[in-house]
Amino acid sequence: MIVMGIESSCDETGVGIVRRLPDGTCELLADEVASSVDQHARFGGVVPEIASRAHLEAIVPAMRRALAAAGIDKPDALAVTIGPGLAGALLVGVAAAKAYAAAWDIPFYALNHLGGHVAVDTLEHGPMPPCVALLVSGGHTHLLQVADLAQPLVELGSTVDDAAGEAFDKVARLLGLGYPGGPVLDAIAVDGDPSAIPFPRGMTSARDPRYDFSFSGLKTAVARYVEAAQRENRELPIPDIAASFQEAVADVLTMKAIRAAQDVGVDTIVLGGGATANSRIRSLAEERSAAAGLTLRVPKPRLCTDNGVMIATLGAHVIAGGAQPSEFTVATDPGLSVATSQL
Ligand code: ATP
Ligand code: MG
Ligand code: FE
Repeated sequence: MIVMGIESSCDETGVGIVRRLPDGTCELLADEVASSVDQHARFGGVVPEIASRAHLEAIVPAMRRALAAAGIDKPDALAVTIGPGLAGALLVGVAAAKAYAAAWDIPFYALNHLGGHVAVDTLEHGPMPPCVALLVSGGHTHLLQVADLAQPLVELGSTVDDAAGEAFDKVARLLGLGYPGGPVLDAIAVDGDPSAIPFPRGMTSARDPRYDFSFSGLKTAVARYVEAAQRENRELPIPDIAASFQEAVADVLTMKAIRAAQDVGVDTIVLGGGATANSRIRSLAEERSAAAGLTLRVPKPRLCTDNGVMIATLGAHVIAGGAQPSEFTVATDPGLSVATSQL
């Protein structure tokens, strides 16, 4: 069974192809990603109309390249991200998936983007035991309980304001470091002292919901720190700010992920989403997982950011789980909840 996955929920046009093997794992046959991230840089964030236009231009060439890379004329099934994401961006991938599925006369599966971020880890690390997944990207910060990839994920907590990646982007912007901010701050933080500035750890008091996150207070604390330094004509210690900010984010994310795994009673944590490329989030997650006797699974950075392979892999798991194909009348759902795995 060969599955093509199409992803267009944000600013990456992804087309991936996998083959499901008899042992239940998947083999990667093609991984094509075209990103419009450069076109959004001067706006400091993703501009939905620009993303949709870029998907329109990129989707058919990406599908052709993926078929050529896999050496096939058509797959046996098509899986596509139906939500959550940007409305106009999702429409492009879903329209392409429906059109090709109809033309090729193959089944079509409309899937949840977040499930793809979790499922992709099985490509590198094999079958997934019950676990807790921490997804962090520019648009999402979720702690999820995963029993079975073919079933809906259970939300344990999420951000009440900014996503973690969004906080990196906003802090980089206010320091004049460009977009996307995550990679720049990560690189600069290497030269800074993570304990130099005691930035706040949002929602970590005993009164707060155990698994929810808040990053907007942290972003404001960085802004106040910068304003005070400028008022007093002090030079901005950019590496210290980057390292201290990054430490605050990594501290809260990993603390809550470990707590969730312990409370739920699983021994595995899976990371996913573009912000898990962050070196400190990775190293602190490793340190704390090892100390707690937990196994940490992290896909390679290329598979952590949005891509089509993750949707193809989720598709293969869902099909193997016995799911029926989606109807061609199914509509995109920009606000699709974690609790819905397939529409
Ligand atoms: P979605 O939220 O739908 O997954 P997205 O495009 O926002 O879409 P990704 O492409 O997965 O998400 O990731 C991009 C985000 O990850 C940006 O916010 C970026 O700043 C952040 N990011 C990338 N590398 C790093 C890093 N090394 N450290 C911190 N954040 C990073
Ligand atoms: Mg992106
Ligand atoms: Fe994503």
